[in-house]
Amino acid sequence: MTEIGESKKSKAQIHNIRAAKTVAETVKSTLGPMGMDKLMLDGHGNVIVTNDGATILRELDVSHPGGKMIVEVAKTQENLCYDGTTSTVIFAGQLLANSEALFERGLHPNVICRGYHEATQMAIKFLNDEISLSNKKRDTLVSVAKTAITGKTLENAIDTVAELCVSAVEKAGDAESVKVVSFPGGSLEESYLYNGSIVNKDYVLDGEDEYSNLLLINTGLENEKNEENIQVQLDAKSFQSYKASGKTTLISLAKNIVEVLPKGGIVFVRDAVNDHVCAYLKKNNIMVVRRVPESSLRALSKVTDATIYQTPDEIEVSSIASIKREKHNDVWYLFVESDIEHNEATLILRGATSHTLEEVERGFDDALGVVSLVLKNHNFVIGGGIAYARMASHLRQHAAQIGGRAQMAIEAFADALEVIPATISENAGHDPLDTILAMRHEILRGNVNFGPNVEDGGVIDLASKGVFEPTELVRQAVLSASEVTNSILRIDDIVARRPLE
Ligand code: ADP
Ligand code: MG
Repeated sequence: MTEIGESKKSKAQIHNIRAAKTVAETVKSTLGPMGMDKLMLDGHGNVIVTNDGATILRELDVSHPGGKMIVEVAKTQENLCYDGTTSTVIFAGQLLANSEALFERGLHPNVICRGYHEATQMAIKFLNDEISLSNKKRDTLVSVAKTAITGKTLENAIDTVAELCVSAVEKAGDAESVKVVSFPGGSLEESYLYNGSIVNKDYVLDGEDEYSNLLLINTGLENEKNEENIQVQLDAKSFQSYKASGKTTLISLAKNIVEVLPKGGIVFVRDAVNDHVCAYLKKNNIMVVRRVPESSLRALSKVTDATIYQTPDEIEVSSIASIKREKHNDVWYLFVESDIEHNEATLILRGATSHTLEEVERGFDDALGVVSLVLKNHNFVIGGGIAYARMASHLRQHAAQIGGRAQMAIEAFADALEVIPATISENAGHDPLDTILAMRHEILRGNVNFGPNVEDGGVIDLASKGVFEPTELVRQAVLSASEVTNSILRIDDIVARRPLE
């Protein structure tokens, strides 16, 4: 088979492009509010039903290097922006597909790369200067959360979920600080923001379901650990007295704890606790929770203002808090709260089964993430791929400023940008071409809020529908997609490593 320009592209390029396009094709049907879900089997044979691009790509067994690069770019997008992975991958796939056409017209990969690079710069500048909007309204944050949730399992409870995400991020400051705990059973609407901290543990020995005092210890309550590494020879009698002396020190520690918790309570201990100590404390109505992660201790300290004691000798006072024990799905949880002002935010998710809950958690992750992006810099754009279509129009108008063949690459870049609104429309069962033409027409007339109408086809004012997303999401998607495309285009050979002898 001979094609025009065959000499300009190597076998590696063709294979890389094909592999990358296949990966993009796999996630294409999930994009947008009417996107479909994928059912997948993970390595352990568990069923995953998801609409999340990053999750699908993570589970895909991609072996071709070109495909792998696309999977990597989805991960980057998810790490930086939490959302927009499908868009990034589809856009990268389209950029590569369009470069194939340019190869055929005789363009050298380097010229294409240069053109794509110029186009990216121009597009991002236009995005920041002209397309990006800014305000500090809470409603905007709620809309941003809703846009991220549309099309996901969470959509059934969109108002509750969006409101919860915004409150949680406002309280905690950013998405990472929001803790999410899910309890199967109940309905999504019963999810709520808990003003305290939850420890996924039970007492060592059984006790009451409610307590009102606590103590936090950031070490263990047992004999010195390093003793385990010493070898000593003792006769039976000395061994008894040696053991007894260890026990006495432990019990004196326990007595110390009883003194600061005279009415009983709970001791949260980071490390192991000797059984004698647990038994002694229980007699004094003190429950022990052992092997509590340090991060949980810190959260408990924030919520109750309790001091975290580094050694048992330092213990001085206990703190007041309401501690309630509840069993969910056969697992005990301790709910700890107090009247102290703090910035711990714990989202409690309810849902039917653990399968749906996993997808619900992924949806929450996206929504919390995008809300925190907009909370940081207040910049957002109208969604539905409008930003992409506007960048495309801008590029087409200005491609001629760049001389030579690179302008062909800029035009190809512009065409590729439109794949986002086109796919959103197509996945909703409408004609993508009609949508794109209508959007171009509106943009030319200065109506920059018209994007795909997923319900009835054609275009609709998406600003009035509150379809907003972070500017950063679009910016990063364009940057990452064009970067990975350029790397793939620059590869002219794949060299296998010499097998190990
Ligand atoms: P991604 O992984 O790229 O976030 P999604 O499946 O979440 O993929 O789809 C996101 C796209 O859907 C964004 O471009 C977003 O603006 C768009 N979108 C969300 N809600 C609507 C809506 N009501 N109408 C049109 N487009 C929407
Ligand atoms: Mg999304």
